[in-house]
This record gives sequence, C-alpha cells and structure tokens, in this order.
Amino acid sequence: MKITKFSHYLDKLEKTTLRNEITAILADLLKKSSPEEIDKICYLVLGELAPSFRGIEFNLEEKMVLRSLSLAFNLPPEKVTEKFKETGDLGETALALRGKTKGKDFSVQEIYHHLLEIALEEGEGSQERKLRKLAFLFKEVDKSFLKYLARIPVGKLRLGFSEITILDALSWMKTQDKSLRPKIERAFNIAADIGLIAKVFKTKGLRGIEKIQAKPGTPILAARAERLPTAEKIMEKLGTCFAEPKFDGFRVQIHIDRRPPEKTFQKQTTLLGSSSEPLVAIFSRNLENITDMFPDVVKGARALLQKNSSLQSAILDGEAIGYNPKTKKFLPFQKTVQRKRKYDIGRVSKEVPLLVFVFDILFHNGKTLLKEPFSKRRKILEKVLVANPVLKLTPQKKVSSAQELKKEFQKAIKQGLEGLVCKKINAVYQAGARNFNWVKYKKSMESKLVDTIDCVVMGYYRGRGKRAGFGIGAFLVGIYNPQKETFDTIAKIGTGLSDKQWQQMRKKCDQVKVSEKPKSYRVNKNLAPDVWCRPQIVVEIQADEITKSPIHTAAGGLALRFPRLKRFRDKLPEDATTTKEVLEMYQIQTNGSRS
Ligand code: AMP
Repeated sequence: MKITKFSHYLDKLEKTTLRNEITAILADLLKKSSPEEIDKICYLVLGELAPSFRGIEFNLEEKMVLRSLSLAFNLPPEKVTEKFKETGDLGETALALRGKTKGKDFSVQEIYHHLLEIALEEGEGSQERKLRKLAFLFKEVDKSFLKYLARIPVGKLRLGFSEITILDALSWMKTQDKSLRPKIERAFNIAADIGLIAKVFKTKGLRGIEKIQAKPGTPILAARAERLPTAEKIMEKLGTCFAEPKFDGFRVQIHIDRRPPEKTFQKQTTLLGSSSEPLVAIFSRNLENITDMFPDVVKGARALLQKNSSLQSAILDGEAIGYNPKTKKFLPFQKTVQRKRKYDIGRVSKEVPLLVFVFDILFHNGKTLLKEPFSKRRKILEKVLVANPVLKLTPQKKVSSAQELKKEFQKAIKQGLEGLVCKKINAVYQAGARNFNWVKYKKSMESKLVDTIDCVVMGYYRGRGKRAGFGIGAFLVGIYNPQKETFDTIAKIGTGLSDKQWQQMRKKCDQVKVSEKPKSYRVNKNLAPDVWCRPQIVVEIQADEITKSPIHTAAGGLALRFPRLKRFRDKLPEDATTTKEVLEMYQIQTNGSRS
C-alpha cells in the first residue's frame, strides 16, 4: 500500500469519533493491506512500531522533532518554534512549514523500515543520527503523511482507539459484524501482539487464529480476580477451593527458555549479555517488558534452569513483593513499588530485595497449559519450582467450609497480607478474563464499599487558595466502559492527598496532558477540567459508598461518596474498574448480594 492511500485512511479515522465508523474504516484498511504489511499497518495506526513489550521506542523529545523540522526545511529554529507555539501541534507545524511540495509516494513498508531504523539507533551520536534520518523523511515523504510522521515519534498519534477496536475490525473485515471478535480476542489474550494476530487471521483465517499458542517472549494477558464480600458467598460460589495468600506487590510474568531469544527480542533484553544465553524475560500486568528492572529475578530464573535439568521452557505467573531478610517480614506496597524504576537499579535492589510468589504455570516445555485444570497446572508448577532463592511456590490450602476460609483469612491478615485469593480447583486459566475462577477476599471488604476502585485520571482543575502553588486543586476520574470503549466519570477528587501526592499528581498529569478532550471520554460539560489528560494514569480510589449522581456518566449515573486517593496503580487504563463491576459493587452495597 502506498503512503498516500494509508494517509487517506488516517485522515478518515482522525475525523470521526463514532466507534462503528472507526471499526468500518479500519476493516476496509485491513482488507486492502497485504499479508506482508498488515502487521506493520496495525502498529502504525496505533502510533507504534511493535507491541510495547518489545521495548522499541523512539526516545525523541518534542524539541528534537522541532530541530529535525528546522533541518529538513532549512529554517531557523526560532521560526519552527514560533510556528509550533502558534499551532500547538507538531503535525500542523510540519504541514505549515513544508509549503506546497508534494513529495514521494513511498510504500507503507518503506516508511515503516525508515522509522524502525530511527528507533533502533543506539549509542553515541544516536540522537543526531535519528534527527537527520527523520529530517530526510520530512523532506521527502508525500505531504499527506507529514502530520502523522511528526506525531508518531513523540507518541502523539492518537486516533482514539486501542487494539480492541482492531480486533473488532478484523472480524468486520470478514463478516461485516463483530461476531468473530470473541474468538480473535481469545487468541490475542494468549499472544498479545496485534500485528501477529492480524497477520495470522489474514493468511490463515479463523482456523489459524484458533491454533495460536503461547510462546516464551510474548506475554499472555493476565487472568484477574472477581470479588465477593463474605466467606460464605465465596464458598457458595466456588465450593471446595484453594485459598492462597494475596500478596500486595506487583504482578510479574516470567518467561524462561533454554534457547536464546530470537533476534527481534534482543533489544530489550540487554541484561542477558550474549545472544547465546537462554531467554529470560519479565512482563508486567501492563504487558511492559520489565526484565532490566529486576536483575535479581533474572538471576533466580537462571538458577532454576541450572538446578532443574528437565526444564526447557516455562511461563510463570506470580506476584513480586519486597521483604526484609532479617525480620523475614514483607514490605508494604509503597516500599515494594520502589523497585519499578529505570535508574539506580543495583542500589535499590539491595535495599528492597524481592521474592516472587509464583502461583501459576501457563506454559511448560513447549506446551501451552492454559486449558489444563488448575490442580494439574499446580502439580507441574510444584515440580518445576525446585528450591530457589527468589522464586517461591505460593502456599496454598484446600478449604471446604466458610469457617476454614475465615481461619485462613485471619492467618493471612496476621502476616501483614491483604487477604486471600480463592481459586476454583479445576478451572482453566482464562487469559485476560476477570471471572469467578479466582475470587479475592480482602480486608477492605468489611467496610461499606466492598472494594477500592481503580480509576483513570481524566484531567485536573487548577488550584485555588493553599494549593494554588501546586497548580492543581482537584482531579477528575473515571471508570472504563468496555462495550463503548469509553471512560466515564465517577468522581471529582479534591481532598485527601498529601502535599507530596498533589505534586506527584500534577507532574504525572502534565506528562500526559492534551489540548482537547480525548474522544473516548464521556464527561458532563459542567465537569470539564481545566487540563485534559489522555487515559494513562490509573489510581486506586477508596470511597465510603457508591451513590446515584445526576452529573457523573459512569454506569448511567453513579458516583463515589468521599473519594480519596489510595495509591497510583500500575495498570493499563483499559484495566481500570469497569462499568459492569461498579454496577455489581453497587448491588452488593445496596442488597448485600448480586442480583
Ligand atoms: P486486584 O488487583 O485487586 O484485582 O487483585 C488481583 C491481583 O492480586 C492480581 O493481579 C495479583 O497481582 C495479585 N495477587 C496477589 N497474590 C495472588 C495470588 N495468590 N493469586 C493471584 N493473584 C494474586
């Protein structure tokens, strides 16, 4: 496909906010894409070059793109900056500066490879080389693509949809409706690479999609837990089940393969040294590649391979938590989370040593285990996890009565843990799903509102009075509506943050602020914040109860009473609490049960 044709689709996508229209445009684009280019087209419409877990980033700031424009069009930097101030958008700036020259109609694949080359530049002088290569494209490429070319390297190509809409579009491409989406999505949950899914679907159809297997190096979407308010209700729902401690750390998916990583994989596994070493990769619940942050966990995984000669490959699911080796006590979440960092890794890993409590195994010696019952996966896990200094087997107790469950719960609380996760004995591992295969039983369940709510920060209001100094006085949060792919407001929060948290919130918000309300937001105009943020920051909110509201858009008008910030969460915005969950929590709160 030529870049002029591709740009034409991007123009159409940019103009609409209607979900069905976006889906139909994407479906048409994917239909016209060849099998060789469809993966690249999927990444490009999302403003990326590869799935985020591959760690391929441009590492270019706005001001570098401005410099590149000045070089491309041979203009003084002040003139470029001036235009940028006037338009407020890199894309419009590039268009305005380029003038009338049309440019070359490259193929999408050519453009993709140029962009990839820019992103892969590393080492000394790489910024200058990136800048020059980008300037070449600014000068040469057909004008229709210029706007998008300027936005992609700084992560600002936002057309208002995610991978999920591409899954719909793939179905639409074949059947003119969304009926195939559940099957395609199931495959995506097992191998979260949208380009790969599109390519397989294009070339091998639904049959190919149904055969997609897990593979070390490509993350699997994490299974999630439902919630129920009492031990009795949990027993009623699950019957005899396994109760496991709920560790309050962060989710890690550890991939191990005795064979070295594939070439595309090497960039983000710098820690692994030579490419002849086994693959070890760690992914977060957000599907980020966090391998480099945890040298101690990598070492633990390596030790496992050394100690267990029958282990060829595995994908392990677990929770990492900080602990104090002297007192043998777990560290609070605020301390554990300090390990998620890009700098000072060596020092902090000594200060906050981690243990990973592995609770599941999703792949073993070349075989996907997702469809095996949990009890069987657990047996395999017990054999795989030979004594290891970092990777520990999650303790587990089979319970058959509410009384036993309560006893386990008290034990966990005494150990300073959050509570329990109760698991159905024979359940499959349903990647990406939140269902009653796992049910959490947490301390906060005794309060009126049965659980905290994970919300997306949608924008903030400038402060008055004391907080004027921070430039933020309140912020607006919303929950996720997966049916409509929208974020709907549920609370405006103006109290309960420490000075440090306000500063932190302002900083985080400013990093993701946008000039207009994002397309996916449903906000009553009386609630419009002074500064909009794109959906990126996820916060855990505690509130007293859920009430009806005439102004909030969540679940047809529900709001949080006395909302307060508990902590920043490491989650995808689409992983925020959903409309359905809030409705269920509202029902639990009003009736004491789900109807
Ligand atoms: P929540 O984040 O409140 O939805 O609770 C589910 C999370 O609990 C999972 O995503 C894990 O990160 C964490 N967790 C801690 N211990 C366990 C466990 N034993 N089994 C499953 N998840 C656990």
